[in-house]
Amino acid sequence: MKNEMTLHIKSLSINEAFARSTVAAFCAQVNPTLEDIIDIKTAVSEAVTNSVVHAYPNTVGDIKINVVLKNDQVVITITDYGIGIFDTAKAREPFYTTKPDEERSGMGFTVMESFMDSVDVKNNSTRGVTIKMTKKLSLETKAMVAND
Ligand code: ATP
Ligand code: MG
Repeated sequence: MKNEMTLHIKSLSINEAFARSTVAAFCAQVNPTLEDIIDIKTAVSEAVTNSVVHAYPNTVGDIKINVVLKNDQVVITITDYGIGIFDTAKAREPFYTTKPDEERSGMGFTVMESFMDSVDVKNNSTRGVTIKMTKKLSLETKAMVAND
């Protein structure tokens, strides 16, 4: 089975919880373990927060979140059209942050990498950043219910 959804949100911090919950709700249809759902929420939260905080520092812009589910595989692509990342390799290093004064710890990408199977970070050819994350989900076997 293959299924897909795309969400367009404004880069307002209030939308971060909405985005992570919506992605988790979409993924829930394949019945992943609670642990996998929590991992996905955490990774989406970090990526969306980065777009809110870093991509559009003094303005509000657009964030696109695409989720593709194919059997037990999920691919989550988060795109913004903001200022882009100066050095993507450096940005992925643990504790690297360009905002140390704003209680950022520089651990966002490290968290994404630890909760997902793969994380690809690239600047778009026009503007902004695209983060592509994949994960193979562990699926719960559904209990048989009468009339199911
Ligand atoms: P934390 O996530 O721990 O609060 P952080 O956001 O600074 O801190 P990372 O999420 O690892 O740490 O990101 C590292 C750096 O990469 C950021 O400080 C920022 O400079 C840059 N960055 C990340 N995402 C984006 C983005 N979407 N647009 C522009 N710059 C980004
Ligand atoms: Mg971050």
